[in-house]
Amino acid sequence: TPRVFSGIQPSGGLTLGNYLGAIKRFVEMQENGVESIYCMVDLHAITTWQDPTKLRHATRELCAGYIAAGLDPEKSILFNQSQVSAHAELGWVFNCVARMGWLNRMTQFKDKAGKNREKVSVGLFSYPTLMAADILVYHATHVPVGEDQKQHVELTRDIAAKFNHDYGVDFFPITEPVIEGAATRVMSLRDGSKKMSKSDPSDMSRINMTDDADTIAKKIRKAKTDPDGLPSEAEGLDGRPEAKNLVSIYAALSEQSVDQVLSEVGGKQFSEFKPMLSELAVEKLAPISAEMERLMQAPDEIDAILRKGADKARVIADPILQKTLEIVGMVR
Ligand code: ATP
Ligand code: MG
Repeated sequence: TPRVFSGIQPSGGLTLGNYLGAIKRFVEMQENGVESIYCMVDLHAITTWQDPTKLRHATRELCAGYIAAGLDPEKSILFNQSQVSAHAELGWVFNCVARMGWLNRMTQFKDKAGKNREKVSVGLFSYPTLMAADILVYHATHVPVGEDQKQHVELTRDIAAKFNHDYGVDFFPITEPVIEGAATRVMSLRDGSKKMSKSDPSDMSRINMTDDADTIAKKIRKAKTDPDGLPSEAEGLDGRPEAKNLVSIYAALSEQSVDQVLSEVGGKQFSEFKPMLSELAVEKLAPISAEMERLMQAPDEIDAILRKGADKARVIADPILQKTLEIVGMVR
C-alpha cells in the first residue's frame, strides 16, 4: 500500500519554491486519500547554524504554513523530526550502509559547502543518510519533493537496496520520488541559474509565504528578466532562464501548463506580464499567509499538534526501527 513521507527544514521562512515544489503536492496527496506523513525536519535544519529562538519560531511557522495551505492534522501526520528519535537512530545505521563515495557525489553538499569544505559541519555532509532514514523509517513508497531533492531520493533508494542486499532481506521499499507540476524547480528572482531557497542571504531572491502584497509586487517588479517579450510557445523560453522561471511560476499558480499560459500572454512585454504575475501570486498566497498569522497567535496549540503528530508517527516508526536493529544483529 502506498505511503507518502516528505519534510521541509525550519531553516527559515517558507518560500514560493517550497509551496509550489512541495506543499501544494502534499495537499494533493492528502486529498487523494493516500496515507501521508509530513515532517518539519528540525534535525536537518541544524546542519547549518540556527539561532535556537528562531528555530523554534520557524518550526511553528512551518507547521502553521502546512495547515494554512490545507494539510489537516486529523488526515495527515504532522510532526517535528526531533520528537521521533527513531529517525536519528536509523540514520546512524544508514551512515554505516552509505559509502563515502556516494555522499561525495551529492551536488547539494557541493553547493552548500562551496569552497568551505573543511569548515562545514559533518552533519551537512551526512544529511542525505538522515533523509533516507526519515523516509524509510516509515517504509514510505512515495516522496513528493522539488527537483533539487531528486538526487537525495535516489541515494535513499541505493541505501535501501544495499541494506536489503547486505542483510539478505526484502525489508526496505525502493521509494519513488514524485516530482510534478509546472514549477518543480523555482529559480531565484535575482539569478536564473540558482534555485530559490529560504536560506539564500538575499531576501529579494525569493517570495516568502508571509510577504505582503506590496513586497511581492516589488520583488516581482525587480526580478531579473531579459529585454525580449514573451514567446507564444514553450520552446521560445529555451536559453532564457529568468523568463522561463516567471512563466513557470504563473503556470503553477494558475494550474495551467506553460504552453497554456503562453497562448494567453505570448507577445506581451514583461512590463505588462509582471503585474499580472504579482496579482496572481497575491491572490493565491494572501489567504494562506493570513491563516498562518492567525494560527501563530496560538503557539501552544501548534505545539500540541506537533506532539500529537509525533505520538502517531512513533507508532509506525518504532517497530520498523526495532525490526531493523534485529536484522542488523543488535541484542533485543
Ligand atoms: P534551504 O535553503 O534551507 O535548503 P529550501 O528552500 O531549499 O531551504 P528545503 O527545506 O531544503 O527548502 O526543501 C523543502 C522542500 O521544498 C523540498 O521538497 C524541496 O525539493 C522543495 N524546494 C526547495 N526549493 C525549491 C524550489 N526552488 N523549487 C521547487 N521546490 C523547492
Ligand atoms: Mg534545500
